[in-house]
Amino acid sequence: MARADALALVHLFPPREAPGSVRQFTNFSDLRNKGGCAHCGASLTSAETNRDHAPSKVLLVEPYPENLPTIEVCRECNASFSRDEEYFGAFLASVLTGSVNPDPKDFPRVARSLARSGGLRKRIERAGSRQLDLWGGVEILWEPELDRLERVVLKNARGHAFFETGEPATNQPTHMACVPIARLSEADWSNFQELPVPQVWPEVGSRMFQRGLHT
Ligand SMILES: [Zn+2]
Repeated sequence: MARADALALVHLFPPREAPGSVRQFTNFSDLRNKGGCAHCGASLTSAETNRDHAPSKVLLVEPYPENLPTIEVCRECNASFSRDEEYFGAFLASVLTGSVNPDPKDFPRVARSLARSGGLRKRIERAGSRQLDLWGGVEILWEPELDRLERVVLKNARGHAFFETGEPATNQPTHMACVPIARLSEADWSNFQELPVPQVWPEVGSRMFQRGLHT
């Protein structure tokens, strides 16, 4: 699709915005890229599929805005992430509150998961160990199941990339880190905040391409 055609389409179908709603652009990118699962690449025409949220709902605060970004993925991939996402959400809430009993008002989804699953509570409890700090206070050291956190991070990265660029990114990342911000060196913090310079333009007609035209 030529740039002028994409521009014309954007003007024909302007994005609609509503309060409490995520701004959405219709994805006009190459149809051939929409035929496969963004996580494993399997054909979606012969597989059962689900809508997968990007970002994962466990990373959001309720009430959720309308129009959350979703992508179509194979059901097998979607199901394979759910336990890891549940663990990720429970771990984050426990770190933030210092307890495996987070307030249901602040963390309703996580509180439901932890109340339902004794196994999940045990896993999270095992991840935290209490020790005295230099001033005699108690601090909690957390050692999560890093592979589970990384699967959720990678799943979200692939979901975001596919949703925005219309290009699947099923290859393995060259670099990935899952580190508390407080542990980042000054150089890593500065890299983290820096906007990456794209090597290539996003797919013509993709949401990211249209965002570029709107800014
Ligand atoms: Zn898949």
